[in-house]
Amino acid sequence: MRIIENHRKMTPSDALQKILEDLPEPSSETVDLGNASGRVLREDIYADRPFPAFDRVMMDGIAVRSSGIARGIQSFEVLGLAAAGRPAQSLEQPKDCWRVNTGAVLPQGADQIIPIERVVEITDQRATVENGINAAPYEFVHREGSDFKNGDRLIGAGAVIGSKEVGVLASVGSAHVTVAKPPEVILISTGDELVPVDQIPKRQQIRRSNTWAMESACMRLGIPATQIHIPDDPKAIEDTLTQLLHADSWIILSGGISKGTHDFIPQTLQKLGAHQRFQWVKQRPGKPMAFYKSPSGAPVFALPGNPMSTLCCFHRYVIPAIHMSLGQTTSRIQTLPLASAFHFDKPLALFLPVQLAGIVNTSETAPQTHISRDPHLDEASTRAIPRPTKNSGDFASIMETDGFLELPAETNDFAAGARFRFYPWI
Ligand code: AMP
Ligand code: MG
Repeated sequence: MRIIENHRKMTPSDALQKILEDLPEPSSETVDLGNASGRVLREDIYADRPFPAFDRVMMDGIAVRSSGIARGIQSFEVLGLAAAGRPAQSLEQPKDCWRVNTGAVLPQGADQIIPIERVVEITDQRATVENGINAAPYEFVHREGSDFKNGDRLIGAGAVIGSKEVGVLASVGSAHVTVAKPPEVILISTGDELVPVDQIPKRQQIRRSNTWAMESACMRLGIPATQIHIPDDPKAIEDTLTQLLHADSWIILSGGISKGTHDFIPQTLQKLGAHQRFQWVKQRPGKPMAFYKSPSGAPVFALPGNPMSTLCCFHRYVIPAIHMSLGQTTSRIQTLPLASAFHFDKPLALFLPVQLAGIVNTSETAPQTHISRDPHLDEASTRAIPRPTKNSGDFASIMETDGFLELPAETNDFAAGARFRFYPWI
């Protein structure tokens, strides 16, 4: 009775909420900058000096006093070369100039750069500039502190470290970086019919694929994962889970959680003291999904074994949970419009595989469709073409798809152009 009631109530959003409610606190570790890429930053990063740290010359040319230009001076005595990396020089007279390169410190007293393209003649002694140059104080000078002041926050904790973050980290001297320590994940397949990848299955058998698919996703997330297989035998399940439930690793099970005679997972988890937070979600695929907290406090996801169910539930629930546990603040859920109307007549949320395409309106009557792998696909024209599978076991047919839309349970008819949350396959 309780189960049926839960099932009626629990939407995918409710289910995720329950999962995120009491995840373990994120923990941190320190890595060298060279190993920080892809990790989630766990500290705020501040400017350790002004950005830029000095008045930086932005063009190769000569540095002059704009007051001299204003008076019509066109020929200057060259005092020397101010190259990048040399200490600041000094310029006192409007009749003088310094030869400068990009990246040099603006000489003291100078306040204008004349680019070399506008210098008609230059020797070691003298530089002559073309007619018509106007006085323009601080033209081609990147003023000290004009981007950020010393102590300004440059990157917030929770950012995923990519090339732009690494560039900033390097510039403020972060040779070592505090990042989130990822949880370890144990991926467990269950089922007497499952054989290893390198085995030829008998007719009644299949190769286990779910744990491989999930390991691949974990690799993309930077999460260390281990695969384990358990047959449909209560004793074997109990023996394996007893130890695992007392460790800190996250557990993700696939299969064995529905109402079949060999679905032993819920009762065994219960027996071993795992606390069930919910089972049954108003969704297709993946309705029998359950979530537990182990005696050690680690999350335990029990996903239905059908490959589409495992894959969709992993993307809809496990990935956001991992992001949350890493303290990642930048995960954004995109919405995308349906390319064509879609009908689904069950009172369940539908995870609908879609292929992304750009609809380019070259003419009103004959819009052209471009497939998403086009690097020029622009976001505004992206549409999600429904590519429903036949059932939740039919997973080889999603190869042309890019992810799935979540169509909510409340409605059965979904109009072309209506926007829904998009979950990309990783
Ligand atoms: P179950 O959730 O255990 O009832 O499994 C549902 C369906 O998914 C069955 O047809 C299983 O054979 C299949 N299945 C379960 N686990 C896996 C797996 N790791 N790889 C591929 N198929 C699986
Ligand atoms: Mg099974």
